[in-house]
Amino acid sequence: MAQVAISNVAKAFGPVKVLHEVSVDIADGQFVVLVGPSGCGKSTLLRMVAGLESVSGGTIAIGERVVNNLPPAKRDIAMVFQNYALYPHKTVEQNMAFALKLRKTDPAVVAERVKRAADILDLAPYLKRYPRQLSGGQRQRVAMGRAIVRNPQVFLFDEPLSNLDAKLRVQMRTEIKELHQRLKTTTIYVTHDQIEAMTMADKIVVMRDGRIEQIGAPLELFDRPANLFVAGFIGSPS
Ligand code: ADP
Ligand code: MG
Repeated sequence: MAQVAISNVAKAFGPVKVLHEVSVDIADGQFVVLVGPSGCGKSTLLRMVAGLESVSGGTIAIGERVVNNLPPAKRDIAMVFQNYALYPHKTVEQNMAFALKLRKTDPAVVAERVKRAADILDLAPYLKRYPRQLSGGQRQRVAMGRAIVRNPQVFLFDEPLSNLDAKLRVQMRTEIKELHQRLKTTTIYVTHDQIEAMTMADKIVVMRDGRIEQIGAPLELFDRPANLFVAGFIGSPS
């Protein structure tokens, strides 16, 4: 059974349909990338998995459980956004610990999880700093640390690298992949950058105008694109 099963999921904002019955199965531990041009519905789909948008049709299951009507806090997921959304008046340590404290986690467990995340992400020297005292790459690591400390079943990333310069973007791609190889957490990663998709994904979902054009492994899409759109999108320089 899929760890995340998106089945015939539709989304309308008022009269406007932005997703037309899309289905994606994501296996336990898989790194799946949703890719497609701006406005095609990637963030909306991810936000529905996170519980930040209601579902207009179809079902989303995480593990054995249909989560359509569960609030975000009750879903076993952690999301990393493009703009980091760090708390400016909290230190790195406090930023990472905050979600756990809200859940009344045992302080010893919080400390242990924060330390582990800081070690994994090379953030140990920065724990007492504030976000404004960090570089873009370090801020992005803190945002990932906040996700890691929650030990979620599923990581959701929405264009986490698009605010970084080109060189850092390439480095962070590698870091996120290494993180995935280490933790093996099921991941849904959204990007409009086809190179990012090709280099990071176990499986790519190519979207256009609220529909899925093709799902496949990177080389499969490259060798056997289902149509001209996929061929043009995957084959074009970023
Ligand atoms: P992507 O992440 O692929 O760029 P989005 O999921 O953000 O695309 O948006 C898909 C479509 O839904 C776009 O046409 C966008 O304008 C529309 N949309 C997104 N959020 C809302 C909203 N809250 N209200 C109305 N329309 C929205
Ligand atoms: Mg988006």
